[in-house]
Amino acid sequence: MSGNSPATANPLESDAKTTASNALDVDALRADFPILSREIHGKTLAYLDNAATSQKPSAVLDTLRDYYELTNANVHRGVHLLSVEATDEYEAARKKIAAFIGARGADEIIFTRGTTEAINLVASCYGRKHLTSGDEIVITTMEHHSNIVPWQMLSEETGAILRVAPINEAGEIPLEDYNALLGPRTKIVALAHVSNALGTINPVREMIALAHEHDAIVLLDGAQAVPHIKVDVQELGCDFYAFSAHKMFGPTGIGALYGKLSLLEDMPPYQGGGDMIESVSFEKTIYAQVPHKFEAGTPNIAGAIGMGAAVDYMNGIGHSALEAYETELLQYGTERLLTVPGLRLIGTAAQKAGVLSFVLDKVHPHDIGTIVDQDGIAIRTGHHCAQPVMDRYGLAATARASIAFYNTREEIDRLVESLNGVLEMFS
Ligand code: PMP
Repeated sequence: MSGNSPATANPLESDAKTTASNALDVDALRADFPILSREIHGKTLAYLDNAATSQKPSAVLDTLRDYYELTNANVHRGVHLLSVEATDEYEAARKKIAAFIGARGADEIIFTRGTTEAINLVASCYGRKHLTSGDEIVITTMEHHSNIVPWQMLSEETGAILRVAPINEAGEIPLEDYNALLGPRTKIVALAHVSNALGTINPVREMIALAHEHDAIVLLDGAQAVPHIKVDVQELGCDFYAFSAHKMFGPTGIGALYGKLSLLEDMPPYQGGGDMIESVSFEKTIYAQVPHKFEAGTPNIAGAIGMGAAVDYMNGIGHSALEAYETELLQYGTERLLTVPGLRLIGTAAQKAGVLSFVLDKVHPHDIGTIVDQDGIAIRTGHHCAQPVMDRYGLAATARASIAFYNTREEIDRLVESLNGVLEMFS
């Protein structure tokens, strides 16, 4: 296998190109991402759409290629060497992911297609078993559609009631409003750890503790948290945690659901098929143990192994250096964007990660996105799969720049210059 660490052996030790507030050697890390040297419309790509999907380092790309070139075989089935190796690598990835988020063990990690499927799995398997008419599910206004629609579907099916905690103007959830929604009928609380539309980092530890006072189980949507902040599911105390590899420098089509073992063991399977059974007969089928009970059919083997490589890569950088760098870059981006005349930031929470959502007077976000693309800058425009957030602010859409550790002040400066150009065009 190719090396899974960043090209810089230890970025923290490199003092070239570092400043007091920046312990990462970002230039060296950028060299790990081949796509970042691509030209777009004749300009070097400034990729500021990381909340939609992140770019992939060579270590992950090499792992995928090596897997298919050297190891490819089906898992859990064969006695031949390739199958044994593929199984070992697949299960080793599960262990890495478990350690990465502080799970008690690898059997608490289920591979899914991503965050969306992980949330749907909990809604289907836990929700259908435990909820009845009049029970309550609590979510918040800032959820991504994938943490809204599965609960609406479950409510339709069971007669459960969906309760929605509001957000304030800054994009924070007032805890007293959230707490007021919890009660004896609350069975499930499903919360974004970090909002993709606003960047808010929610005080989930407190929110989980409040939900547990009512014996509700708590699922965190961690899609936007794992790429930016250290996650420890035991320390947070959540019951389920959902996340996607493609937002954390891994491949698309793969993600994970963490669940407390006792809850997973008590849940019925998600889908039926091969690999999720102990034995099958027409009289009686016995399901496999957790986590295999939830992984019917041939899984995304290369994807899972690639997700493991992404975890290795992130571990190689180190969370504290990454967080310090991104916090500073977000602060810089906030200050610089606010110099653009008429720009309004949407999402100004005290605790934020990664996201700069904004609108400009008199210019539609889609026009902003199209024009800055001509300058080689990739940002997202639209409702960001969070239409209730847009409704909350009376908007149809925002423009959103979202950062990763490989972004730079210079890229932010280019965005600001480009936005000033947009204003000139529309003046
Ligand atoms: N939740 C949040 C907060 C997200 O940002 C996203 C992706 N935009 C999702 C869920 C869904 O993730 P996926 O599409 O990878 O399943």
